[in-house]
Amino acid sequence: MERLNSSYIEIDLSSLYYNFWQIKKYVGEKTKILMIVKSNAYGHGILPSSFLNFKTGIDMLGVANIEEAINLCKRKVKLPILILSYILPEEIPLVIKYNLRQTVGDWEMVKKLSELAQKRKKKVKIHIKIDTGMGCIGIPYKEAVEFVRKVKVLKGIEIEGIFSHFAQAEKKNKFFSLKQIQRFKKIIQELENMQIKISLRHMANSAGILNLQESHFNMIRPGLILYGLLPSNEVSYKINLKPVLSLKTKIIYLKEVEKGQSISYDRTYITTKRTKIGIIPLGYADGYRRDLSNKGEVLVCGRRVPVIGRIRMDQTILNVTNIPEIKIGDEVVVIGQQGKEKITVEEIAKKTNTIPYEIICGLSSRIRRINKEVDFKKK
Ligand SMILES: *Cc1c(COP(=O)(O)O)cnc(C)c1O
Repeated sequence: MERLNSSYIEIDLSSLYYNFWQIKKYVGEKTKILMIVKSNAYGHGILPSSFLNFKTGIDMLGVANIEEAINLCKRKVKLPILILSYILPEEIPLVIKYNLRQTVGDWEMVKKLSELAQKRKKKVKIHIKIDTGMGCIGIPYKEAVEFVRKVKVLKGIEIEGIFSHFAQAEKKNKFFSLKQIQRFKKIIQELENMQIKISLRHMANSAGILNLQESHFNMIRPGLILYGLLPSNEVSYKINLKPVLSLKTKIIYLKEVEKGQSISYDRTYITTKRTKIGIIPLGYADGYRRDLSNKGEVLVCGRRVPVIGRIRMDQTILNVTNIPEIKIGDEVVVIGQQGKEKITVEEIAKKTNTIPYEIICGLSSRIRRINKEVDFKKK
């Protein structure tokens, strides 16, 4: 279906490429990169396989579930794919069929993987996840060494990776994160003492990469920073990143209303003078959060204008009284840059009392994604 809605998300792949190399330089050429593309690449949409396959230096892709993995395979993405979350037993045949890497965090899973792999005369690659303090999927760290030893002798299984995940790497106080690293390191050391060396060892998410040098091991797992966003403003980061995503729309309606007129549902905004309002075709159904009602700002004609009244399912109302030259069809930037002004995902996250992750992942599939064309060979 042709998509004619005037709201769209623009993806600047050259910024993604730039961020990738900034991160690579930051951690050193030798550290492998598992690029996280789950949740539709953090709301950025389907990244072209030409981008992913091109020799950018991506070593592996991380997804959340089997469907995301298979979609990549069907689009002829050639990189190894790791499923970071858990799957149901009935999905195991697909892991084997598509040669995916599966996260393992219990004995049941690894046993079933082994049985089926043997039946199909294949070897399935797994990454064992250790719970060093997240309290989610993963083998409790105290049982990890014993678990790996048991898995090691199973047929049809290759332990390609071992990993763990931080609970609060973005915090200034590193106490708990350092404890997690220490637990993970100890497991690796004990395994090596038994001549068990697992080739990929990884722990660092974005905040870990920037905040905890000791957590890099030989592979890192950046998500958010690849998309040019920072995990928190608690720590200052020594890296330069460019946001990849912009959200743009257009003015579709303009009118003047009298003083004392209420605007939108619930009548939360009453004009205090004659007011010019402008309407954009973007609402909470698109992921433009309703808690930005009477709080959000957008850019038009290079200036900031406020959102007034409740954000609706499909429209948002702006006070454009101070923009006399405004006309129908003018570009409105909701996230991104226009002229000298800029609205960041971080700003929106702060105003809505959440994290940048939730803002970008929440941008709905109703908004089309447009990739800005770039030629990566001309670096
Ligand atoms: C999503 C995810 C990441 C990426 O986290 P960011 O903070 O976005 O870098 C890393 N590791 C695992 C296991 C994840 O699920």
